[in-house]
Amino acid sequence: MATLSSAPKVQYRSLIARTVRMINHAGVMHASGHVAGRDPDDPNVMWINSRKAGRSTLTAEDIVPVNLRTGERIGEGDEAPSEVHIHRAVFNARPDVQAICHTHPDYIVALSIAGKTLHPVHPVGGFLPESTPIFDDANLINTPARGELIAQALGKAPVLVLRGHGVVVTASSIEEVLMRTISCEDNARFQYIASAIGEPKIICGEELVIAARDIMKPVVVRKHFQYHEENAERAGALSGLD
Ligand SMILES: [Zn+2]
Repeated sequence: MATLSSAPKVQYRSLIARTVRMINHAGVMHASGHVAGRDPDDPNVMWINSRKAGRSTLTAEDIVPVNLRTGERIGEGDEAPSEVHIHRAVFNARPDVQAICHTHPDYIVALSIAGKTLHPVHPVGGFLPESTPIFDDANLINTPARGELIAQALGKAPVLVLRGHGVVVTASSIEEVLMRTISCEDNARFQYIASAIGEPKIICGEELVIAARDIMKPVVVRKHFQYHEENAERAGALSGLD
């Protein structure tokens, strides 16, 4: 049974709360999105923003632990979100993944409703595969069985689009999942706008290899995180966090 090796992990929980607020401030979180991180000391535990916590006002206290083996919320307090099954199944299927964001961004969802595959069309989307996999079902992922279907559809990809619903973004750190989530939606917006004018040109082959290498550099990930942190800070979106 998974246990908490060094509760309460205030700093790590605060980073997740900060990240939720920053993604929300960037317009990509909406009311029901979530960010989950694998416990740095216990790979069988994840931390996720609670179901009821407001995405613009949450704090470290609203980031709750879940046992990845049983799916149960560890300890007392607010429950995990109804779509916690996405995170549990993906963390269990992908030991390489340390952070996951599930959210419902406008352009990614609009492209999926129109039957368009999400492609890398701008270097900010350089971490995407040439064709992003899609889960062809618009309903909530609110059971363990549906969580398993998401993990299967994702496979080894970094991102899964959920048709008419949202996106699942995986990463190797909390900072990286913020960069990927916001950049994924930026890329989708470029693809959407380009589609209104003509046929979008997809970044592929060697060009995509170079784009992926450049966008995934730690210094670039850090720069994106800092940019969004400063924007959120200046707008007062991080007040009362710590
Ligand atoms: Zn959802």
